[in-house]
Amino acid sequence: MSDCIFCKILNKEVPNYTVYEDDFALAFLDIFPHAKGHTVVIPKKHTEKFVDLNEDEMKKLIVAVKKVMDKIQIVLNPDGFNVGWNERPAGGQVVPHLHIHIFPRYNGDGGGSVHSIIKNAGVISVEEVAAKFRA
Ligand code: 5GP
Ligand code: ZN
Repeated sequence: MSDCIFCKILNKEVPNYTVYEDDFALAFLDIFPHAKGHTVVIPKKHTEKFVDLNEDEMKKLIVAVKKVMDKIQIVLNPDGFNVGWNERPAGGQVVPHLHIHIFPRYNGDGGGSVHSIIKNAGVISVEEVAAKFRA
């Protein structure tokens, strides 16, 4: 997509610090890092949502994520990771080109877990939600 910043990175119109690349995916350092080595992994095909990929593409993207984690582990030796993506504006997605965030974590870095993203389960009970899945 011509006005997509990540497509511009793929097309080398915008520079990036590449961490990993294969035929399907590119991983580069986030320009506004939330952790040392904060990296985003993107499919080379412009796709907005994870579910827009077919299952073979999903596998390729997740394998690329694993390889990036391995590389970060060797280079920066973090104590842990948070890995995930913001999907659609309600999920915090700003760049509309699917990207998996990899946040290397370090003991004592002051960050939280993925649970700290949202704490608003609404007034509905877990039992009522479960009933909706059974309906
Ligand atoms: P989102 O909120 O869409 O999940 O995250 C988009 C991410 O892309 C942000 O963490 C932001 O810092 C990063 N980002 C935005 N523009 C650029 C850019 O031009 N280069 C790089 N390397 N990262 C970018
Ligand atoms: Zn794009």
